[in-house]
Amino acid sequence: VTAAAASLQRAAELLRATHSAIAFTGAGISTASGIPDFRSPGSGLWENCNPLEVASLTAFRHHPERFYEWVRPLAAAIYRAVPNPAHRALAALEAAGHLRTVITQNIDALHQRAGSRRVLEIHGTLRMATCRECRRVFEAERSLLEFIHDGVIPLCSECGGVLKPNVILFEEQLPVVVFHQAREAAHQCGLVLVLGSSLEVMPAAGLPLEAVHQGARLVIINNEPTYLDERADVVIHSDVAQVLPELACLVGAQIYGEDTRD
Ligand SMILES: [Zn+2]
Repeated sequence: VTAAAASLQRAAELLRATHSAIAFTGAGISTASGIPDFRSPGSGLWENCNPLEVASLTAFRHHPERFYEWVRPLAAAIYRAVPNPAHRALAALEAAGHLRTVITQNIDALHQRAGSRRVLEIHGTLRMATCRECRRVFEAERSLLEFIHDGVIPLCSECGGVLKPNVILFEEQLPVVVFHQAREAAHQCGLVLVLGSSLEVMPAAGLPLEAVHQGARLVIINNEPTYLDERADVVIHSDVAQVLPELACLVGAQIYGEDTRD
């Protein structure tokens, strides 16, 4: 038995032993779907710009066009993407009763499209947008697709104000209600699976540690080391899109190849 196989077996035992596991997912779970990790250097998205000058709340107020130009390739990648085997494995684990909740830092909605039902998007979502002037909230998909295609910034159909996608920008608070639900889920779980997150973005990345402080077990599957590796029961430094389906199979969860977007 190789060390990797033994780690996987140990993770499967922990998963079988609890009915209250949650997953905490980051950009690494979506890279296999072709979505760049926009917070990491080398992804190409920051090469010619400073995050605070394009993707902060202040920058958006003054120059929404700069934000939109920056987000355009990311939004295009998200709309091209389909869920990968890791997203489907998580949906299968939930359907099989092995997983309660997915807490995600991602804004791509691939968990929902793979069939996950209880998903907490603590960094928001590109699927909705809010008018900066009248605060009305809109489904964003059509206007964003038009923007990707023709470059015209999405405007409010009621008052003409600029629409801001419901993603959390730098300087912006995390969504209060969703973050509270995520914290509750972390405090009540028996096991956290950290999947494709290097746990670098606070305060979100503090949630798995809060769970550990409440007595939860910890399994980390990520290419890179994290600050919690030494606290984990199992650490697998590998591609989550490869490892997670194997883990789901070990606990008997049936993975389907569906994409629920219609
Ligand atoms: Zn408006």
